[in-house]
Amino acid sequence: MKKICIIAVLAAVALYFGIATAGKGSVRSIESISDKTVSRIKATVILDAGHGGEDSGAVSDDGTFEKDLNLYVSEDIAAYFELFGISYIPVRTSDISVCDMGLQTVRERKRSDINNRYALINSTPDAVLLSIHQNMFSDAKYSGAQVFYAADIPTSKALAEQIQSTVCGMLQPENTRKIKPCGDSVYLLYRAKTTSVMVECGFLSNEKELSMLKTPEYRSQIGYCIYKGLLSYLITEGTGNGAKS
Ligand SMILES: [Zn+2]
Repeated sequence: MKKICIIAVLAAVALYFGIATAGKGSVRSIESISDKTVSRIKATVILDAGHGGEDSGAVSDDGTFEKDLNLYVSEDIAAYFELFGISYIPVRTSDISVCDMGLQTVRERKRSDINNRYALINSTPDAVLLSIHQNMFSDAKYSGAQVFYAADIPTSKALAEQIQSTVCGMLQPENTRKIKPCGDSVYLLYRAKTTSVMVECGFLSNEKELSMLKTPEYRSQIGYCIYKGLLSYLITEGTGNGAKS
């Protein structure tokens, strides 16, 4: 019953955005995407809710954990994938680390966690990595979603552009942030062998954006925009193969 309610809400968000953007032309309405089109998509999305378990990620002044918002947004995206038949594998579906059992130190567990995420991506044929995170900065004035991409995989930039432009076009018209290549501080993207992006959904250090991210309604909207940008990319490319040898 709960799941039916969630899907009904998500469908309403999709319908709202579909109607709201129907006249713009730059963003295709969800109603125009047929089952046949979706069935041509070969990629499997690795849906990576960043951090988890003892790794909280960023923590806002009011004690909100990044890991929780990452999971909630990922759950909304997963619901859209299920609703519209996109193949995906979630890295985690609860508040856990994905490290091996029995490791003694935090350092060992962190390394194991990232290695296991990396192994999952590499063991999945035709994978596309969608990693969900939140931003944080010392100056509270900054806000807005930003997409980072794996610099060595050309298709990653195209995916990042689709998601950034969809989020800005449908939800954040004032957002002037540009997509950026990832450096070696982001292991999964820096070492990626397939199409990979990381979406920083918003800033926990910005009071207004944090308060929006804490509402299910806003999370389902940004989740829908991320899903929609990804779908536009997949319809064009059909595959996650970034062709890195
Ligand atoms: Zn993070």
